[in-house]
Amino acid sequence: MSERNIIAIHDLRSPATGAGIPEIPALPAGTELSPGLLSDSLGRTLHDLRISVTDRCNFRCSYCMPKEVFDKDYRFLPQTALLSFEEMLRIARIFVACGVRKIRLTGGEPLLRRHLEHLVAMLADLRTPDGDPLDLTLTTNGSLLARKAAALRQAGLRRVTVSLDAMDDRIFRAMNDVDFPVADVLAGIDAAVAAGLGPVKVNMVVKRGTNENEIVPMARHFRERHGGQVVLRFIEYMDVGATNGWRMDQVLPSAEVRARLHAAFPLVPLDAAQPGETAERWAYADGRGEVGFISSVTQAFCGDCNRARLSTEGQLYLCLFAERGHDLRSLLRGAHPSGRPWSDAEIAAAIGLIWQRRDDRYSQLRASRPAETDTPESGGRRRIEMSYIGG
Ligand code: SAM
Ligand code: SF4
Ligand code: SF4
Repeated sequence: MSERNIIAIHDLRSPATGAGIPEIPALPAGTELSPGLLSDSLGRTLHDLRISVTDRCNFRCSYCMPKEVFDKDYRFLPQTALLSFEEMLRIARIFVACGVRKIRLTGGEPLLRRHLEHLVAMLADLRTPDGDPLDLTLTTNGSLLARKAAALRQAGLRRVTVSLDAMDDRIFRAMNDVDFPVADVLAGIDAAVAAGLGPVKVNMVVKRGTNENEIVPMARHFRERHGGQVVLRFIEYMDVGATNGWRMDQVLPSAEVRARLHAAFPLVPLDAAQPGETAERWAYADGRGEVGFISSVTQAFCGDCNRARLSTEGQLYLCLFAERGHDLRSLLRGAHPSGRPWSDAEIAAAIGLIWQRRDDRYSQLRASRPAETDTPESGGRRRIEMSYIGG
């Protein structure tokens, strides 16, 4: 991988380096936007907030953090750049005032962030204006879950999503590219179910030619072992970031995944659980649970995308494929021209303005473009990395 790529990635997240400078949100002078439901320019209401708690990971999944780029010389964010738990709590509280009802902690690998259960406990205490707790969840590679599931549950985490791409140990070790054994992730899933973090969702990124033969074994395992308490979801391999060398011919469309699964275990369609849900839900006809299909490439779901994403260093992104963030950290740490800190109401007003102008719908637009490799080498757009912004 050329140095050019490495610089491009760094640029995308470092305000100091010039290109890709995050925008500092405009604050309306003296205005206090009344908190409440916020709609963007396409009528989509802000509902979910994904908070990335670290840009580091102990895996090197080739579709996310290829080893050649994320090597020992890769410059991860310095500690001082990261939002503290107190800053995350404050921004989360402001987002709740703006209408957020669901928070997902992600990364990098979120369980690498020390004392994450403290942050979970702080967020679990937040209440909506109606006095309800938030839907608080976490996405993890599962490597540390066996050790941490009970403490996370006790801290107030409600559910967990575990990423797992194969049952076959050899294939799994190759996909995580750090030789991590599948048995340890399976133990993590068992621990999450036992701790009451269910229904546990298991996300499998399907890459044609890599793990497509794992579709049926994965389904069989979770049907038999957990009988409905684990929901397996198949994710189309996405062209996110600028380092994974994505190619359309490596995407196995959900329709094909579903056909293969249906041949082994007949499926019947289910209604969507909530508006804005990313997965299309199907049930096993024999009543042994359900599966989901997340078809970001072949069936864009931008139409009701209600998700905002906050990077570890406090940049707000409005789309997984965004090229630019909005620097909320500068509001958290900076000061009003009069010298006092920005108030919560002022930061809420800035978030309101940002969301109201949102018109992102990358996947929908991609569907109307011809297939492309879209890597930096091919002149593709420079985008944030999935490991930086979270899934
Ligand atoms: N490290 C945690 C994990 O793997 O669950 C959380 C962060 S990871 C970036 C979040 C999700 O993004 C994972 O489920 C992962 O499989 C998915 N992901 C990463 N790169 C992807 C890609 N190119 N296409 C589809 N999904 C991807
Ligand atoms: Fe790490 Fe998750 Fe990315 Fe894999 S998908 S490299 S586990 S952040
Ligand atoms: Fe949402 Fe962007 Fe994904 Fe569309 S492409 S669903 S707007 S994150």
